[in-house]
Amino acid sequence: MDEVLAVADTPAALLMLDALDGKELVRIPTGASFRARFKYPYVIVHRIDLHNVLLDACRKSAAIELVPQAMVTGFEDGGDNVSVSTADGRTLTGAALIAADGLRSLFRQTLIGDGEPHPVGYAALRTIVPMGELKVDVPRDCVVLWGGPGYHVVHYPLRHGAEFNIVAVFRTTTHAEKADAATYRAELEQTYRSAHPSMRELNAMMDLRWRRSVADRTPVRHWHKGNTVLLGDAAHAPLQSLAQGACMAIEDGLCLAETIHAAERDFAAAFRRYEALRLTRTRACSSNPARCGNRFIMSTALRGMCAMPPSPHGMKRIYLTVWRGSTTVPEREITSAANPKFARPRRAPMRTSASKAALQSDTC
Ligand SMILES: Cc1cc2nc3c(=O)[nH]c(=O)nc-3n(C[C@H](O)[C@H](O)[C@H](O)COP(=O)(O)OP(=O)(O)OC[C@H]3O[C@@H](n4cnc5c(N)ncnc54)[C@H](O)[C@@H]3O)c2cc1C
Repeated sequence: MDEVLAVADTPAALLMLDALDGKELVRIPTGASFRARFKYPYVIVHRIDLHNVLLDACRKSAAIELVPQAMVTGFEDGGDNVSVSTADGRTLTGAALIAADGLRSLFRQTLIGDGEPHPVGYAALRTIVPMGELKVDVPRDCVVLWGGPGYHVVHYPLRHGAEFNIVAVFRTTTHAEKADAATYRAELEQTYRSAHPSMRELNAMMDLRWRRSVADRTPVRHWHKGNTVLLGDAAHAPLQSLAQGACMAIEDGLCLAETIHAAERDFAAAFRRYEALRLTRTRACSSNPARCGNRFIMSTALRGMCAMPPSPHGMKRIYLTVWRGSTTVPEREITSAANPKFARPRRAPMRTSASKAALQSDTC
């Protein structure tokens, strides 16, 4: 945790602004009151910096052998072990296999076989610029979401204010098409023509080479077969607007460690327990609005996505749902497990009148 905090930023607040007139719709303080209420700080961190912290931790563990440059092309579950084959002809064998190979998971195709993810009709652009290049008059120390009709923009500082991350997501019939930069630029300007001038200035900074079609999957209940299990996007595609997919993958990892420990290496039992513990929470963050995430989208100020009016309280409800703790193994199961070091301290109460008052008084 300390290593992550050293490379992370703590924003002053989460803001939701109206994309048309720039009016502030929602402010969620993320300072001391947030920490008092949720026990842990709200942080933002560059993906590479987080990966490096995790990588360093793996390197320090004698129990972990890192095998880089290993593109998996197939696997076989032999009952009491699982083997993977790699593109360069190697075979690696272990007692069980946790596949965290993303939205277009090879392992998912074998375990579930539900084909390619479905584009949802939106495109995403992402750009990081040096803070010194940012000339637009926008809050620089907060996580800001501008919600508009059929589009939104999110921005926040990274690396202790040295960099500035901008993400734009918008509905478009060309989400899956490849085009040149001039075509993308014209489309962006047309889509955001009604947006606040600051938003349009932010979009002008976008590097159009990083453009993705937003896609999702129909949620499924089971993510394992035998001694092989899926984790992260491979198991449950997240709603990108909620920006919780990587968080869900990390929670999955913790949950799996706990269930494997509690089941004393009965992997099939551990994987069943993991599915049961993680299903509801990951569905809440899942990307298929028609099936499971409707309430999130409808209650946000992303009004164009569902033609609903913005709700100042909706945004808070969404984040409170996400922050209201993870679904890992209940404490009684952990403490009864053989190794006492897996025992966790009791969770702090979620909400007290004191922390509620602090939440309301915190400022950006
Ligand atoms: C625009 C955008 C913004 C986002 N913002 C956030 C955010 O702010 N917060 C957040 O929590 N989430 C965010 N997400 C979601 C987040 O990026 C994903 O949910 C997260 O990366 C999923 O992690 P993962 O480990 O499951 O999969 P991935 O990050 O996709 O990692 C899969 C890995 O497996 C490797 N791999 C794939 N196939 C093979 C194979 N056959 N053999 C070997 N290796 C293989 C890939 O190279 C890759 O390294 C965002 C997503 C998008 C698109």
